[in-house]
Amino acid sequence: MSNYVTHLECSYSQKKYVKNKVYNLSDLSKPLLVRYDFKKISSDYSYSDFVNRHADCPGFWKYLPLLPINSSKSIIDLGELITPLIKINVSKFSKNSEIFVKDEGRLPTGSFKARGLALAVAKAKEFGIQKMAIPTNGNAGAALAAYASKANIESIVLCPEDTPTININEAALQGANTIIVNGLINECGKIIGDLKDKMGWFDVSTLKEPYRIEGKKTMGLELFEQFNQNLPDAIFYPTGGGTGLIGMWKAFQELRELGWLNCKLPKMFAVQSETCAPIVKAFENNQRHAELWENASTIASGIRVPAAIGDFLILDAIRESEGSAIAVSEESIIDCRDEIANETGLLMCPEGAATAAGYIKALSKNLINENDQVVLFNCASGLKYPMPKITKKIDKNNLSNKDFS
Ligand SMILES: *Cc1c(COP(=O)(O)O)cnc(C)c1O
Repeated sequence: MSNYVTHLECSYSQKKYVKNKVYNLSDLSKPLLVRYDFKKISSDYSYSDFVNRHADCPGFWKYLPLLPINSSKSIIDLGELITPLIKINVSKFSKNSEIFVKDEGRLPTGSFKARGLALAVAKAKEFGIQKMAIPTNGNAGAALAAYASKANIESIVLCPEDTPTININEAALQGANTIIVNGLINECGKIIGDLKDKMGWFDVSTLKEPYRIEGKKTMGLELFEQFNQNLPDAIFYPTGGGTGLIGMWKAFQELRELGWLNCKLPKMFAVQSETCAPIVKAFENNQRHAELWENASTIASGIRVPAAIGDFLILDAIRESEGSAIAVSEESIIDCRDEIANETGLLMCPEGAATAAGYIKALSKNLINENDQVVLFNCASGLKYPMPKITKKIDKNNLSNKDFS
């Protein structure tokens, strides 16, 4: 099989770019998007064929006709899977609520960055690229490291010094040349941009190459299949660079172009922390582009992104979907993480917990109804993040009943 890609397109000017060439950004320094031959796909596949015919490909790779790789031989397999939707309810939510967590922590490398980097590395392999460099708050670096090592490609990971230790260590163990920088992710990205030509690195920063978003798009394809050719009323997405939100929105448009999606589209909610909320600020100020957020900080490190190159794509998708952008407090993130873990047994990452806090805020602002069907994205395993210390101890030689209260 060769792929169904027709061309690439500048997401800002719609200028076309021929396929089968190595690209980073468009001439206007905007993200490039992959376009497909929907007529040909829908004449070769019914929807049922589309979801079943490549079922032998691991996990999200089964959506092969809507992926940019040349054949199933390009798949880099680390045990990808279709992530589960887990219904939860906690006392914070209303009794009537229908809330599902899409648990992305189960993917290889413990986060949904695996989706994007799997595709980016598979495409890089097809192009014969030998060195890939990435700025990361943690999970992207770990995912690049893993897929690049499996594909026999060198990887260079630059991360801010307060990146969670586990992320730094896993990237290094999985084979990346991992380097700590005294700056934020955008500053790590600038170093890569400045040095890539000299060092022979291919820059895989968020949305600065066209294929990570194609991997992230599979979250939308999975949801559509898991909801039986339907979609939830609202999706809450912890937004950093926004690849996943933009990717899902792209997936829904593509399914519609293919004639397979006839339901209404979900409201898309971008959730950020109050201490790093450039997209929320731009949304509230009716702007199409976000300003750099000064002194960004948040325990939800995956969404500590002061400037996103795809800002206008995130904001367009939110507005088209009649969703919103919501900032939540650091305390509410921890509160939701702790309460959901305690009451449901599901340990979310802080970014995932932020979506629960965003959901509660959206309800209180009447942006959604309490019986709406909602999907919260838990983007990484909660096990990767610092957890509260346990201080209870007993003396095995001197036990008393109150030791156990
Ligand atoms: C990267 C990341 C995000 C943000 O994803 P984007 O698609 O870049 O907005 C959210 N949560 C976690 C755990 C992440 O690793």
